[in-house]
Amino acid sequence: MAQLKDKKGWVFDLDGTLTIAVHDFAQMRRTLEMAPDADILATIAALPQPERMRQTLKLDQLEEQYAQQARAATGVLELIPRLAQQGCRLGIFTRNTKAMAQVSLEAINLAQYFATEFIIGRDDAPHKPNPQGLNSLLEGWQLTAEQAVMVGDFKYDLETGRAAGVTTVHVATDQRRWPELTDYCFSSLSDIHQKL
Ligand SMILES: [Mg+2]
Repeated sequence: MAQLKDKKGWVFDLDGTLTIAVHDFAQMRRTLEMAPDADILATIAALPQPERMRQTLKLDQLEEQYAQQARAATGVLELIPRLAQQGCRLGIFTRNTKAMAQVSLEAINLAQYFATEFIIGRDDAPHKPNPQGLNSLLEGWQLTAEQAVMVGDFKYDLETGRAAGVTTVHVATDQRRWPELTDYCFSSLSDIHQKL
């Protein structure tokens, strides 16, 4: 396996990876009147209209509040400029919307590093762990799976990387681990920065 420092395409999850997670999913489910374990996007997608539209608007409002409050994850303000300086391609694959991703990136002063077309939001591709969004980034960059890495804090990110045949990096911010899906595990983006 090529080392991380040789990777040319870096695809990041957004919430909880580049930003410190301020999303309170339990609170979101309560506001949206969902069961505590509901998959929020799937639940809304299964609703008939006009409830689906109503819930989508409510979700958008909640997410805008969280996006404006986004804080930079440890090490992100060093890692991203460093990768850009090395000529790496930078992308985001998020279950959030592209618009909210851009609000979050503005909030942490990193918007300049991520071209709009390389931010894949939930309306731009099937949701993770479907790898189509990741594959489309690689195609746009004309990079092979071997040249790329998928970085995230959750199982879906790692499953997405696996499905695309891309090296997976777990930024482990809590006790959960998915060793069968993980090629590299770091406790923060600072530790990745030190490997470059
Ligand atoms: Mg995340």
